[in-house]
Amino acid sequence: MNRAGFRELHAVFAHIVARNAGSAQLTESVAERAFDIFEANMGPLAAHLPPLACEKGCPSCCILRVTATAPEVFLLASYVRRIEASPQGAAIGLKRRIELADRATRGLGEAERMALRKPCPFIVRGMCIVHPVRPLACRGHASFDKKACARAAAGQDVEVPLSEPHHALRGSVQAALQSALRSAGLAWGLYEVIHGLALALDREEREADWVAGKDSLAPAAIEFDRTAAAEQLDELLAR
Ligand code: SF4
Repeated sequence: MNRAGFRELHAVFAHIVARNAGSAQLTESVAERAFDIFEANMGPLAAHLPPLACEKGCPSCCILRVTATAPEVFLLASYVRRIEASPQGAAIGLKRRIELADRATRGLGEAERMALRKPCPFIVRGMCIVHPVRPLACRGHASFDKKACARAAAGQDVEVPLSEPHHALRGSVQAALQSALRSAGLAWGLYEVIHGLALALDREEREADWVAGKDSLAPAAIEFDRTAAAEQLDELLAR
């Protein structure tokens, strides 16, 4: 995505953030818009790609560490609460699954998480049960080779051919979202999803705290060079 495209996307997110400032709707509005933008832009791009191997019911890559922005984590937390509130959902025991997964994976780096080969707690009977609100990271991970995915998931050292347009679009949408959050004085970091969710589910007030400008998911934050990232975002915004 070029600078003009990035600025346009930043402006879309900045507008939503400003319209919902201080409101309980903020996280849902901004995360859902990010997913809509990703899907709307990916459609035409994907039309020019070879067929993807990804299909409903294939959970091979769902052993990877997933990172997301705070709005994505809070949207997932609301979705989990809704599942838990339904009689069928309650039987899945999702909160317990998340607690157990968090206990097993907290603090692991990407390679260690992959080596553990522990499936995401949202995989139920081979399917992702939070598919409509899965993070941008999951949407941007698309493979052209199902067998290579299965071999990698089994611990074999294979190169999985991934879709660069999916990866790049995820990066652009995520960066523009982070940029708008940063401009609004909100916590703009990335969080390990399962740890972040465990925090959000444990204390519901964390969402209101985040909306008020606190980094309420900080214990789940992924470390990165914030100064360099901020400079990069400023550069992308500069005319
Ligand atoms: S959220 Fe869904 S798509 Fe993403 S890793 Fe978990 S099961 Fe897989």
